[in-house]
Amino acid sequence: MSATNYAFKVGQIACTVLLDGVSLVGRAGILKRFPDAAEADYSRAYADLGLSLDEAVSSFNILVARIGAETVLVDSGEGGRPHGGHLLKSMRQAGLDPEIITRVVLTHSHGDHVLGLLSDEHDPVFPNATYVISRDEMTFWLSRIDGSAADQRPIVAMLERQGLRLIEMDEPILPGMTAVPLPGHTPGQIGLWIESDGEKLLHLADMLHNPMQFAHPEWSPTYDVDTRVSVPTRRAALERAADAHLLALFYHLPFPGLGRVRRAEPGFTWAPLALSA
Ligand SMILES: [Zn+2]
Repeated sequence: MSATNYAFKVGQIACTVLLDGVSLVGRAGILKRFPDAAEADYSRAYADLGLSLDEAVSSFNILVARIGAETVLVDSGEGGRPHGGHLLKSMRQAGLDPEIITRVVLTHSHGDHVLGLLSDEHDPVFPNATYVISRDEMTFWLSRIDGSAADQRPIVAMLERQGLRLIEMDEPILPGMTAVPLPGHTPGQIGLWIESDGEKLLHLADMLHNPMQFAHPEWSPTYDVDTRVSVPTRRAALERAADAHLLALFYHLPFPGLGRVRRAEPGFTWAPLALSA
């Protein structure tokens, strides 16, 4: 069985990445999702990674971080609607209960990050949690709920019932955890800067979706709401991660989505963390 949880430490902060699932994107999925280049360009980019475009996948990597008395979950997966849905199983395999989660930080409001928050019976999956999202993202979410995402209205109602804190996009959330603005994919998307005892982790959420974007940060998926913003956000965040040799976490890269970004020509390269067997 392949791994579904990966534990590591950032100074005093105990972290675990949990796998909510993996969806096969494949050649057709890449062509549908990425409109900026041609199939031959994507095939070449995948060949440069030592992979075939037919093998393209998207993972759902969910961080749990224990900060003092708080246990923080970052995003929730999409609860099996239609992908993922394995978060609770991965938690159990890691010896973690949903009841221990005291805080859920939402990087943004897309379904693959929020649909895992409510059970089929509309109960909170993390009953002891309160919630954090950026003020700008909530404005965007509410505008979508008034339109195409009406089915997510019960999630927002639950967040407000359980306790919802709206933050600025660069606001400290807890000691050792601060929001990092990553606008463009959605207007209010945040990443997270996590630091303890001089060790650092930069959670980059959906700033990048696919490993071919390291060499081609100018390629954006169709679900980046504003590519005039997402592309410069991506370049700046990759430069920051590369120049400071930061441990970085990406929600959609192959599990556990941890590694280091390096500058290259063109663009950047990705050195995934080597997992011990
Ligand atoms: Zn996503």
